[in-house]
Amino acid sequence: MAIALNDEQKMMIETVRRFIQTELQPLEERIETDGQLDTDTARTVFAKSSALGLYALNMPAEHGGGGLSAVDRILCEEQFGHTSDILIRRAFGNVYEPLLECHGDQIERWLRPTVRGERTCSIAITEPGAGSDAQGIRTTARRTDSGWVLNGGKHFISDGLWSDFFLVSAKTGEQAGSKEISMFLVDKALPGLTVGKDQAMMGLRGTPHVELFFDNVVLEPIALLGQAGQGFKLAMGALNVVRLAQVGARAVGKACHVLELMTAYAAERKQFGQPIGDFQMVQQMLADSVIDINAARLMVLHAAEMIDAGQDARDWIAMVKVHASEMLGRVVDRAVQVFGGMGFCKELPIERYYRDARIYRIFDGTSEIHRTVIARSVLKRGAALFDVNR
Ligand SMILES: Cc1cc2nc3c(=O)[nH]c(=O)nc-3n(C[C@H](O)[C@H](O)[C@H](O)COP(=O)(O)OP(=O)(O)OC[C@H]3O[C@@H](n4cnc5c(N)ncnc54)[C@H](O)[C@@H]3O)c2cc1C
Repeated sequence: MAIALNDEQKMMIETVRRFIQTELQPLEERIETDGQLDTDTARTVFAKSSALGLYALNMPAEHGGGGLSAVDRILCEEQFGHTSDILIRRAFGNVYEPLLECHGDQIERWLRPTVRGERTCSIAITEPGAGSDAQGIRTTARRTDSGWVLNGGKHFISDGLWSDFFLVSAKTGEQAGSKEISMFLVDKALPGLTVGKDQAMMGLRGTPHVELFFDNVVLEPIALLGQAGQGFKLAMGALNVVRLAQVGARAVGKACHVLELMTAYAAERKQFGQPIGDFQMVQQMLADSVIDINAARLMVLHAAEMIDAGQDARDWIAMVKVHASEMLGRVVDRAVQVFGGMGFCKELPIERYYRDARIYRIFDGTSEIHRTVIARSVLKRGAALFDVNR
């Protein structure tokens, strides 16, 4: 595993780091208070970041994206973890990988405008009755002579207020199972599509999470993404990369950010006439956090290298999802402890990091679901699952 960074990678990381420090972090507190990022500021953030070439870094250069390798992408995503969800979305985009299935006229209508930041999309899979069991959805798309008719609903759809189209999973056959699910590009303005309430969350202030309702929404044939019946495979394949980058790498970045703060506090805060960092029980919390973070970082890098080498990284990504999200939970919990009462107090951002971290173990597949996947794999493949040289 190569972990030495070349000059280009160092420069890229430094550009992202500086942008986040100077342009994004100063906005975080206001978003927390207001509960939203106002439109003008969102547009300014986008304009500045795209001028630096930082928008849609994950997309291929041929479509106007950054064309980064998986390793380079996760190096950037780790930096993204140093700021809040809504600012990452506005500055760097949520241009989801399934969009790369666009072909023909779909490319100019949905893919490229999204890469340019002219359009924004959300991914809409989860329903009130179907979360972990993503195959259990009830939303249907019925084929007609002139296209499809969509009925049903979704919830928890991140950034759904801002997005102007959705990648929607729907059943296109009568039977149960993944082969009956297809993926559609659904414009928000279509008659019959209603955006429901913004579902208030414990954390991630500023990012709306909405309900969607589809009442006989008429879709043109061009709205079908990929092949009919391939939607589940498409969504799950794309979410794997999202898990590695947006959960794994960002969790590492968030934990690093928190560790920097707790280390500085441990050095500066004095009790019993000495810095609390001199007490071994506080030192243990710092040491355990460094160990935790570095283990997660190596796992993320390993999975990214597998992707770049064209290998199947699905098992590793499941391991990353569990380890990195739970690592983040442990680190933020220690941070609250090291900061004492100030860690619980809203005058400092530590309590926000604690709240924001909790969702990492839930979205993009819960820890329980990923543990099930890993256990099945280890029972099937034995040592091949964890031998990094195979
Ligand atoms: C802030 C936020 C943002 C989100 N953004 C999006 C989005 O943009 N698009 C989207 O489509 N979805 C989104 N989601 C949905 C998210 O992916 C789901 O919440 C998640 O997959 C879990 O589904 P659920 O909430 O229905 O929980 P459930 O599936 O009901 O799970 C409840 C509990 O049961 C456990 N469980 C379930 N099945 C098993 C099993 N087989 N074995 C062991 N334990 C099991 C789970 O691990 C969990 O602990 C978001 C959710 C939140 C909260």
